[in-house]
Amino acid sequence: MSKRDFAWYEDPDLKNLYIKSASNAMRGYHAPIVHPKITFTGTNSLTDLTILLGAYLTEDEKRVLIVVDKDLRKFGEKVAKKLKELRNIDSRIFDNVIPEVPLNTVREAVAICEEYDPKVIIAVGGGSTMDMAKVIMIYYEKPEVNVNTMMAPSYLGLRKKIFLLCAIPTTSGTGAEASFNAMVTNTDRDPPKKVAVPLYEICPDYVVLHSDFTKSMPPYLTMGTGMDALAHAMGAYVLQGSTVYTDIHNLKATEMILEWLPRAIKRGNDLEAREQMLMAAFIAGVGFINTNAAGIEHSLGHSFGGIFHVHHGISVGIFLAASIAYQSKVTDRFYDLAKIFRIEKEGKHRDQVLRKLLEALQDFMKKINAPISIKALEKTQISKDDMEAKKEELINYAFNDTCTLFSTRKLDPPQIWKIFETAYENKIDDLMELYYM
Ligand SMILES: [Zn+2]
Repeated sequence: MSKRDFAWYEDPDLKNLYIKSASNAMRGYHAPIVHPKITFTGTNSLTDLTILLGAYLTEDEKRVLIVVDKDLRKFGEKVAKKLKELRNIDSRIFDNVIPEVPLNTVREAVAICEEYDPKVIIAVGGGSTMDMAKVIMIYYEKPEVNVNTMMAPSYLGLRKKIFLLCAIPTTSGTGAEASFNAMVTNTDRDPPKKVAVPLYEICPDYVVLHSDFTKSMPPYLTMGTGMDALAHAMGAYVLQGSTVYTDIHNLKATEMILEWLPRAIKRGNDLEAREQMLMAAFIAGVGFINTNAAGIEHSLGHSFGGIFHVHHGISVGIFLAASIAYQSKVTDRFYDLAKIFRIEKEGKHRDQVLRKLLEALQDFMKKINAPISIKALEKTQISKDDMEAKKEELINYAFNDTCTLFSTRKLDPPQIWKIFETAYENKIDDLMELYYM
């Protein structure tokens, strides 16, 4: 594989090609459906996975690498205990998971694999942990790979050393348990850069959705990760790459999140709400990854969150209304989202329906205490001057983000800046300007 130090989607020629490939002529040319083989749900789900692994692995293959971060080590230990007690499966815990998944720590885990020779990797954690496990598998099996060149569809022929990749999410939002993408920080680059690694083969084989792993999530994290799931579902629904398969997922996930997220935030020990949110985030994960990308709220959110260190779900949530408003000029798909928010379209102009949808989305966000704008952020105070000082960086990061390629409406640097400016307060009139412009 050729050595290159920038990601494929930063190539100007490819950018143009992708905009064109969103045309009707290209629709249906390449549209695989990717998701885990079995997703165990319910109170017996961890036991189910353990029994399956016990049957799958021979006696001398019973070695599992559990990937977990230090704060959640107890969850990793819980899984290790279950494997040992129920099916005498040996395991080792790698707990040096660092947010943003720097490549150099991935190599640390690969060194453990080389010595321990695990046959299964189980990721127990949030998005970073699951992404880390995916990239560990890539580098353990194919050390010569350059992550910058990974794009869907490229194939590496994985699962020669690691037979199975499993995921147990501890948040309800990232959808990483259902996705074939991993975000990794390329520390070989100067400065290091977060790159997307989309590869069908890194979609987990088996998933466990068990509320025992999410019920202790504090309200703020429940809200932030829940907003991420909502952004996946709604943001991907308006994308050109949508299919009937992604539609059923994205619409249902939106409906479920509106119904269950407020309860999960309010009463963390409401197991029904926790289970529904785990399911909703998973469904949204399948929905957005099969449209090939998340929406442009993710390009903007990746840039803003990366530069100002704001939580991923909170960041993408701030740009969700703008993403829908901006793209609705060229797509009618917002009508279906409006329906979920119980907005009647009869007798209303197109822009009136959109306005009602944006208002309803902001009302929902206020109800769950999600910041609706940059100004409304409480944990990090960011002024207009701070934004202005980072203007170039914010624009370039968003413009060179993989999700920008899949925008339904072409997105250039001046429009990106306009959206950033709008998001400072996210006034409805300003959001509508993005639609009209
Ligand atoms: Zn996300």
